[in-house]
Amino acid sequence: MHRHASAIGSVMLAVVAAVALVVLAIGAHSALVGEDAVHVAMDLGTLALGVAARRFAEHGPDERNTFGWHRVDAFVGATLALALTLASVWGVVVQARAATPSTVSVLVVAGVLSLAPAAPLIVQAWLHRTSGTARALGLHGLADLAAGVATLVAASLTQTRLGHDAQTAAATIIAATIAATSWRMIRDAVALSLDLAPRGVAPSAVRATIEATPGVIAAHHLHLWRLDEQTNALSAHIVARSGLSLHQTQLLADMIRERLARAHGITHATLEFECHACEAASHGASTSSHDQIAPHGLPPADRSS
Ligand SMILES: [Zn+2]
Ligand SMILES: [Zn+2]
Ligand SMILES: [Zn+2]
Repeated sequence: MHRHASAIGSVMLAVVAAVALVVLAIGAHSALVGEDAVHVAMDLGTLALGVAARRFAEHGPDERNTFGWHRVDAFVGATLALALTLASVWGVVVQARAATPSTVSVLVVAGVLSLAPAAPLIVQAWLHRTSGTARALGLHGLADLAAGVATLVAASLTQTRLGHDAQTAAATIIAATIAATSWRMIRDAVALSLDLAPRGVAPSAVRATIEATPGVIAAHHLHLWRLDEQTNALSAHIVARSGLSLHQTQLLADMIRERLARAHGITHATLEFECHACEAASHGASTSSHDQIAPHGLPPADRSS
């Protein structure tokens, strides 16, 4: 509850900053302050979009998406990060093409003002560290912070011959930092959409964990992926020791799940038990040769029905 209240508080802070900057821009007839007002307004939009996306992602499973909407968070985060990267690269181009550096006083005002939207963005990221969207907002906030500080540093150099170069260098460093962080977020969202195995969790090791469980003969049709940025999922067919009752099989499943969670952080496992291997897998992790156990007939009760 207080998390949502803090989200609304952060948005309100950005609204106040945007309104104050618009008033200041009109009062001072300053195009640069006007640009800052536009920047803060865009930050406000980003913040609102980020908060909305994260709250949407918190919705549980429904009729349309039985997994839940967690992946929305990663995708919005990656999209915001990409947009921020493009904007910062464009900022470098604009800065490099500017004929003369801005004056000290204007730079100081712009530097201080560009710090304004950073706080709510960084606060949001801190409150919701596990969220991809919140991390993108935090990245944006840090970029705002860096831009403000870089502008102030550049302001101190304006009187020297280094003025223009210092501002361009500052913009370039900020853009490079943003691009590097964005790349990780985009790569992560792509890995999620391609159902790649979680980093650092090898399917062969997972398979070994399952097959080392007493009562398990072999595993096949093993699939490993992530449901969202925090949840590792697995599905597998497991050939169990012959003669287990349904109750014993369920106890075996509990044991396998516990081992998977402890050893590999897999908290969402769907296990299908077999007393002999079904048809050889044409996909999934490799099928071991000792899966091949002689099939036997259906029990009489099943045949008569
Ligand atoms: Zn399969
Ligand atoms: Zn039971
Ligand atoms: Zn099978």
